[in-house]
Amino acid sequence: MGALPTKKLTRGHKRRRAVAYKLKPVHISRCPQCRSAKLPHTACMNCGTYKGRQIGVSDR
Ligand SMILES: [Zn+2]
Repeated sequence: MGALPTKKLTRGHKRRRAVAYKLKPVHISRCPQCRSAKLPHTACMNCGTYKGRQIGVSDR
């Protein structure tokens, strides 16, 4: 015999535990240059800048 729960969980008890497993919404930050939505800590896909600097250009 395996271990069995001693008491039945209430709906609220189950739901409170269930929210810990739910997917969190994806964080979106806004580009200060072109104001388009972008992922945080990444260069902007639209204008290619990160922290006010151009990224992905051959000259430094
Ligand atoms: Zn941008």
